[in-house]
Amino acid sequence: MRVPFEVIRDPAEMRARCEDLRRDGLRIAVVPTMGALHDGHLSLIKAARGMADVVILTIFVNPTQFGPKEDLSRYPRDEAGDLAKARPLGVDLAFCPEARAMYPSGAQTFVEVRELSQPMCGASRPGHFAGVTTIVTKLFSILRPHLAVFGEKDFQQLAIIRRMTRDLDLGVEIVGMPIVREPDGLAMSSRNAYLTPEQRRDALCLSQGLDAAEAAFRGGERDAARLVAAARAPIEVAPSARIDYVELRDADELTEVTQLAQRSVLAMAVFVGATRLLDNRVLAP
Ligand code: AMP
Repeated sequence: MRVPFEVIRDPAEMRARCEDLRRDGLRIAVVPTMGALHDGHLSLIKAARGMADVVILTIFVNPTQFGPKEDLSRYPRDEAGDLAKARPLGVDLAFCPEARAMYPSGAQTFVEVRELSQPMCGASRPGHFAGVTTIVTKLFSILRPHLAVFGEKDFQQLAIIRRMTRDLDLGVEIVGMPIVREPDGLAMSSRNAYLTPEQRRDALCLSQGLDAAEAAFRGGERDAARLVAAARAPIEVAPSARIDYVELRDADELTEVTQLAQRSVLAMAVFVGATRLLDNRVLAP
């Protein structure tokens, strides 16, 4: 069953619509995004379409997940373009609230996932994951979806959201989808739009590093330091690249791994020029 497409901005209206859909017995999937949609986002929408009766796309550049010196004000925004891409894939409703509707003045409640939010991106971006988990909780509370689809590109974010959903009994099935890449290997990201042509070339060093580490892993290497060194090598020679972190961690607990004996993730954040890019690869013996 399909509902006529609509953009909804008011959280109360969105909640009422979802209550009706639930009462009608329809299975609701949500795809939360910050817009500037690319094929990575679209893959999540397609996956959601195959798993639910109603697909709700949310577009919200969430201010609480940006640090004071980060790119909130210049984050790419193109709602009309986003909807033109998303609608043909079968999005039923788009929820595009204003910031002041989501955070009325005086808002002072945050959701925090403790240990999983500490390392990796949490260490470089204090408060970032509290912003993410708070907005995702709010979206789940408004929409009460049956399932929510996220990308493995933000691997730590996905692990945190899974844990939060379990810990708080939110009753939402969390679906993770593989990283979608450009033909040359660069992981798709809304922030790739910031890159100059030279930086765009240098940005390949992330996926090259992961390829090198995976090749070493397939050749039998299990030592974390050597796998990380293999991943770092192409990044260290790219002129505009500067490593934030490259780490091998347990894929569920995100604890440090020294010898790879369990399902692990080689995760990295790299500044290319001023743009911070993420990539990762799961290595499972
Ligand atoms: P964002 O708009 O960057 O907050 O991302 C919204 C969702 O899209 C998150 O679940 C991301 O993990 C996912 N996503 C972003 N880039 C990709 C990609 N290249 N492949 C798959 N999923 C992605």
